[in-house]
Amino acid sequence: MVPAARFWYLSWIMRYDKVFRLLILAFALGAVLGLSGGLIFGGDGPGKSAASGEVAGDHSEQATSTTGVAVPMTPERAAAIGANEMGLIPVIEYHLIGPSESRWTRTPENLRKDIALLKAEGFYPINLSDLVAGDIDVPAGKTPVVLTFDDSSPGQFRYLDDGTLDPDSAVGIMQRAAAEGDWASRATFFILLDVQPDDRVVFGQPESRKEKLQQLVSWGYEVGSHTVTHLNLKKATREEATKQLAVSKATLEDYVGGGYQVNTISIPFGEYPEDDALLASGQHEGQTYAYRGAVEVAGGPAPSPFSTRFKPLHIPRIEVTGTALSDMIRTFKDSPGLRYVSDGDATAISAPGDLAERLGSVLPDLGRPVVTY
Ligand SMILES: [Zn+2]
Repeated sequence: MVPAARFWYLSWIMRYDKVFRLLILAFALGAVLGLSGGLIFGGDGPGKSAASGEVAGDHSEQATSTTGVAVPMTPERAAAIGANEMGLIPVIEYHLIGPSESRWTRTPENLRKDIALLKAEGFYPINLSDLVAGDIDVPAGKTPVVLTFDDSSPGQFRYLDDGTLDPDSAVGIMQRAAAEGDWASRATFFILLDVQPDDRVVFGQPESRKEKLQQLVSWGYEVGSHTVTHLNLKKATREEATKQLAVSKATLEDYVGGGYQVNTISIPFGEYPEDDALLASGQHEGQTYAYRGAVEVAGGPAPSPFSTRFKPLHIPRIEVTGTALSDMIRTFKDSPGLRYVSDGDATAISAPGDLAERLGSVLPDLGRPVVTY
């Protein structure tokens, strides 16, 4: 039996999300109305006219940046924001979430602190597949960050005995962070399907497997593959590797339902197959697969997807242990030119003309305007 309390909680979160989106929409609409109102009713009086003109100007800029419509991005605006969409993006990596901190375990308390630090330092979460697709929709001035969780252990997503979401599980912590603002329900979970201990199979709690994966996707998180059995793809036969790449994707898509596509994979142990083509596409007994993005286990912040340095099947990550996260932030502060800073307009790519060599150069044929300053 599933107590009603769980659904009450979940629907409250969903309602909050909808309300939040509505508020943004209302704000954008208000700005547009304010602007036209300012133009139409500008003759109300000299003092008032000047004031409304000023406010309308401010708001119309924000409306543009959140909706991505109207005024095209200009070098002046990109420069004022300090946009650098050729900068590096941290993809951070968690394993167990549990009561005592260790090499493979982050405590709930420390995960909360990590998110608070990322928020305070101007980061904003996206999913890995959005990074891979270059679909980076974060507010102007923010730096995208991808939170990734490997091995689908219970501390990442747990229901309590009364059916409510465990506020100390990673999902509970992230949902709370999103509800508090300046953060979104985005992260990528790499799921195992057949392993020992079996509490690593889709977060333990076998009766809730499908429900959890569906819930994650409905909130905005991403479900990715970690193979079926945490297979070492380097040592496996080509046949076994192909089978697991196909079965893992098909099973997860079946669990989530609704035509959901699994596009990304975390390579177990960081041990790649000899040939990347095996990841890119293949088929096993009529089940075809294609992975567009794959993550490694280490390597530092990732290149921008708009850069010649970006290799979608070899995306490096930063393991969050000890002070790795604050060290990463300090490195960005020491070299601010390396950091990805969004222009707030997902339809254009903005960057300084003079880029650090490490950032590579802008890929040709991105199919959208590139604004340099
Ligand atoms: Zn793993």
